[in-house]
Amino acid sequence: MYRTHTCGALRISDVGQEVVLSGWAQTVRDKGYMLFIDLRDRYGVTQLLFNEDISSPELLEQARSVGREFVLQAKGKVAERASKNDKIPTGEVEIEVTELTILNASSVPPFTIDDDTDGGDDLRMKYRYLDLRRRPVQENIMFRSRLGIETRKHLADEGFLEIETPFLIKSTPEGARDFVVPSRMNPGQFYALPQSPQTFKQILMVSGFDKYFQIVKCFRDEDLRADRQPEFTQIDCEMAFVTQEDILNTFEGLTRHLFKALKGIDLPAFPRMTYDDAMRRFGSDKPDLRFGMEFTELNELAQHKGFKVFDSVELVVGINATGCAAYTRKQVDELTQWVQRPQIGAKGLVYVKYNEDGTFKSSVDKFFNTEDLKGWADKMGAQPGDLMLVLAGEADKTRKQLNELRLEMGRRLGLMKPGDFKPLWVVDFPLLEWDEETERFYAMHHPFTSPKKEDVARMLSGGHETMKSLRADAYDLVINGSEIGGGSIRIHDRKLQEKNFKLLGFTDEEAEAQFGFLMGAFEYGAPPHGGIAFGFDRLCAVMNGQSSIRDFIAFPKNNMGRDMMIDAPAPVHPEQLDELHLAQTKID
Ligand code: ASP
Repeated sequence: MYRTHTCGALRISDVGQEVVLSGWAQTVRDKGYMLFIDLRDRYGVTQLLFNEDISSPELLEQARSVGREFVLQAKGKVAERASKNDKIPTGEVEIEVTELTILNASSVPPFTIDDDTDGGDDLRMKYRYLDLRRRPVQENIMFRSRLGIETRKHLADEGFLEIETPFLIKSTPEGARDFVVPSRMNPGQFYALPQSPQTFKQILMVSGFDKYFQIVKCFRDEDLRADRQPEFTQIDCEMAFVTQEDILNTFEGLTRHLFKALKGIDLPAFPRMTYDDAMRRFGSDKPDLRFGMEFTELNELAQHKGFKVFDSVELVVGINATGCAAYTRKQVDELTQWVQRPQIGAKGLVYVKYNEDGTFKSSVDKFFNTEDLKGWADKMGAQPGDLMLVLAGEADKTRKQLNELRLEMGRRLGLMKPGDFKPLWVVDFPLLEWDEETERFYAMHHPFTSPKKEDVARMLSGGHETMKSLRADAYDLVINGSEIGGGSIRIHDRKLQEKNFKLLGFTDEEAEAQFGFLMGAFEYGAPPHGGIAFGFDRLCAVMNGQSSIRDFIAFPKNNMGRDMMIDAPAPVHPEQLDELHLAQTKID
């Protein structure tokens, strides 16, 4: 028997028991007459004690030969520790070792296997198996496993079926590039890896499986950002005979269950906000509601008072930073430079300090008197002691810039409290987005999303401008400013789907070639249906107050889409290319 207990199990009540433990040597502390080894496994750490009273000279010698990360088996008696460690659950006991087996030696690891390791990113990715031994990473991976199991339990209880859909499919346009796989048996033809199971889950609705889910890998060949991975996991769902309301309720239920089961947290209400309101009030379709600092539009109060910068613009809009009137000149200048960075792109920043004594000091004192500025303060709900920050320019751009400033102020003022979770449904997204550069419409969600019922007639008969104003039955779940999931009610009528493809620039032939199967299915009794997908990796990260999904993926890729451990992607043998009919792309 390799072990009677794990390294996290023993307590003071076990004193006197003979036990066997197996694990890795975390640290070896040699004090001469006695020697300690911290033995670690995924359950915890237990201290092993070797000393001249209980251990033979040979045993002590053997213990001295142990290095970091050796795999050990130790037999001995549980004893009360002389100096206790109240930071770990096993901290009151140690094992007086009488027998030690070195199950395997270890090379010296290239970084320390500690909570705060000295290893850089690249090194940890290359030796991912060692990084995965570290407690914080292990906890993330264990959390992910529990989250998956709870998801399955809850959705199964709600009557969902888990159904697999294929990975080798055909290109589907969902906004990103596809990874393609050459077909050996069909020369010159390629599969694509799914960006999501979207069309398959809709087909499952046509087939009558009215509640489907899958915890499923999706693949998108995008340029990577910190929180993106070329392969990631979704909790993917679809339901038939449902309205938007049914879907929001079902997935609010799932989210509540997961937070309760995994974090013991009862989430507050899930408010709903239209896309238009979210943009107007927060400049973002995923506002962080852990703090207020809502936008106040100042056009009426601030325009045509002689300040040219404001007069010609589409929007003058500000936020109120509570308690920041005492900001120094330097701090305000620094904020101004912050919004002027190319990533934000504001031309300038107007500030108004509402001093404690009720006076005002602003960067636009020349153009606005006390009464004017008091008017701004009243509209913004500012009190003495507050700092108003105002941007001006083209509406969409300015809102986006102010969103960045709001988030930055939230960070600086410590308003994004860890452990505080604020969910939000954003609803009524536009159906189509007009792109000036390519002069065409793009689907805001994806091409299968249905316009709102009341917009269908306008969609079938309206002109170009009408198309810009169409609303979709599309929704996103946002928690703390992160998009956790998104979905929509789908089109289930061939005519409407054809019209949508046309608006998106597909010719009839292209639409037929790519999606003939789906439109064909719509002709055979497609039920009304809709669904949603949660980003599973992102959900893990957000539930733990972390920003990077990479830390919740056992084997993630780096920023270049590389797996540093197995060193992929990599060239293949020329014979393989031949077989795949790709010989012309041979690389020397
Ligand atoms: N397939 C969509 C996505 O991956 C989700 C959905 O509409 O259900 O974003």
